[in-house]
Amino acid sequence: MSGPLDPTIANFGYIVASALFIIGLKMLSRQTSARLGNKLSSLGMFIAVVMALLSQPIDDATRMIIIGVGLVLGTVIGAVAAMRVAMTSMPEMVAVFNGFGGLASLLVGWVEFERGRVVWGLPDESVGLVTLIAIFLAVLIGGVTFTGSMIAYAKLAQKISGRPVLFGGQRTLNAAILLLAIVCGVLFITGVLSPQAYIAFLILIGISLLFGVMLTIPIGGADMPVVISLLNSYSGLAACAAGFVIGNTVLVVAGSLVGASGIILTTIMCKAMNRSLQNVLFGGFGAAAGGMAGVEGEARPIDAESAYYVLEAARSVVFVPGYGMAVAQAQHAVRELADLLEANGTEVAFGVHPVAGRMPGHMNVLLAEANIPYEQLREMDDVNAQMPNTDVAIVIGANDVVNPAAREDEGSPIYGMPIINVDQARTTIVLKRSMASGFAGIDNPLFYKENTRMLFGDAKASIEALVGQMKDV
Ligand code: NDP
Repeated sequence: MSGPLDPTIANFGYIVASALFIIGLKMLSRQTSARLGNKLSSLGMFIAVVMALLSQPIDDATRMIIIGVGLVLGTVIGAVAAMRVAMTSMPEMVAVFNGFGGLASLLVGWVEFERGRVVWGLPDESVGLVTLIAIFLAVLIGGVTFTGSMIAYAKLAQKISGRPVLFGGQRTLNAAILLLAIVCGVLFITGVLSPQAYIAFLILIGISLLFGVMLTIPIGGADMPVVISLLNSYSGLAACAAGFVIGNTVLVVAGSLVGASGIILTTIMCKAMNRSLQNVLFGGFGAAAGGMAGVEGEARPIDAESAYYVLEAARSVVFVPGYGMAVAQAQHAVRELADLLEANGTEVAFGVHPVAGRMPGHMNVLLAEANIPYEQLREMDDVNAQMPNTDVAIVIGANDVVNPAAREDEGSPIYGMPIINVDQARTTIVLKRSMASGFAGIDNPLFYKENTRMLFGDAKASIEALVGQMKDV
């Protein structure tokens, strides 16, 4: 049987894979090229996996069987999960996958430490400081990513309350935990082969897992988009550290790309919410809205027929989609209504809020799926500038991202977050099933404004009723 692949060939394959990752990532930034970009990146990963496999000593049958079983199991679980997941549960799945990425890095660090303790003591072997530091980082960041992502998953899936958990001395406690992790790191690196180092290493694993929980519980409500992109970035950094641990170049490159793009996305999300990262991590956004002004007034319901008359007379209409459109899967019906309005001579636009839905770009994905023309999509600032001249704003299952309390009520937990100012349109029609609050769990004064009409019901059914009315005439 022939031996492992020549490292030169493997490295060449890694360079090709890395180039494909970078080109793929670049292509993801445009709707038209995103699909191809995704495929190119997947091809890059396929090449990387094949090269890594062929670099193994292939005459070791047990090793190959273990790798093969892992590969098949992982592929089957990943494929089944991806096929079965509902579009609305995508963020939960992303959180779980991030978490497992972190856990994988932690395990790589742990296994390398165990392996190292057997060989590092041998006469011809030496312990590399870089490897030990990389093991420390892979375990620490990997552990934080794993438990942090599990908490994010539980919050998104509403298995636990989304409210921030805050208590006195929390920051001091967190700082102490981090300090303890660093002390454990120093202890195991300096005394690597001693029994004490082993104990310090095990404590480090426990602390990393605890730290992930502690860092995520104070973050609540509407801040989850930032947390998800941040955890995504952490999973990349952990993979990068794992790449250093096992000396795999492509893992270092892929990890750095995920880490860097995650940080960029985190910054974009913070800007979208008009908040600093420090404020998100330590501010307890979404905490019980003690000082919030009470919402007064009466909501004015409207039926599909009356809503049709309002729309039929409108010269300009702005659709503002939110999480409810994803739940109702109303995007295709929305496209149909938009087409009918355009045919009626109405100017149509879509106002997309950066954190609408449950994952970055959620609304863009749904609107692209329904082939909404790209020219009709407007960013928040553009659409807000036009809002006072807009006849009708139709809110499709959005709530927090159109809540005027963010602009008007200093006591509101979302005060300062930019919103789409649908309340400034001449008429606003809100499509939702009830008066229930959105993800941040707070009241929305929009529903009680003079110019707001509530079209109650499932968003898809309501839009289809409007389409029916338009077609009847
Ligand atoms: P919200 O969660 O604020 O509101 C969604 C509304 O949709 C609900 O009030 C609900 O009201 C309505 N709804 C649900 N199902 C249906 C249905 N079938 N038909 C009609 N309406 C429906 O959504 P937004 O998009 O406005 O805001 C997103 C929120 O999620 C923000 O707080 C954001 O920070 C947060 N978030 C965003 C993430 C991201 O990355 N984009 C990630 C995690 C959180 P009702 O039950 O009465 O129908």
